[in-house]
Amino acid sequence: MQRLAVFFLIIGVGSFILPGMGLQFKLISLFGENSVIVSVICIIVGVVLFFIGRKSGEDAPTSAAEIEETRNLESKYHCPSCGVSITSMDRVCPKCKKPIPDAAI
Ligand SMILES: [Zn+2]
Repeated sequence: MQRLAVFFLIIGVGSFILPGMGLQFKLISLFGENSVIVSVICIIVGVVLFFIGRKSGEDAPTSAAEIEETRNLESKYHCPSCGVSITSMDRVCPKCKKPIPDAAI
């Protein structure tokens, strides 16, 4: 998402700057007189995508950290016989099949 936003921003800003250097994107020049409108739309789309991408980018690590935290809570129990990670739901060790005493959880 972020890369797409940068792409649109470069196209939009570039299509403003390039004519000053006697250049223009082929894609933009296809629009002729409307190229300025296309440039503005590219910039707007780029900015919108950038903020959407940034928002989802901020949310992702939080939920990933929460998942990791949950996983750590689940794996803090260990089989007293073989030491393999077990969850509080396990009543029998998934590895050595020995019953888990409540004291171990
Ligand atoms: Zn075990």
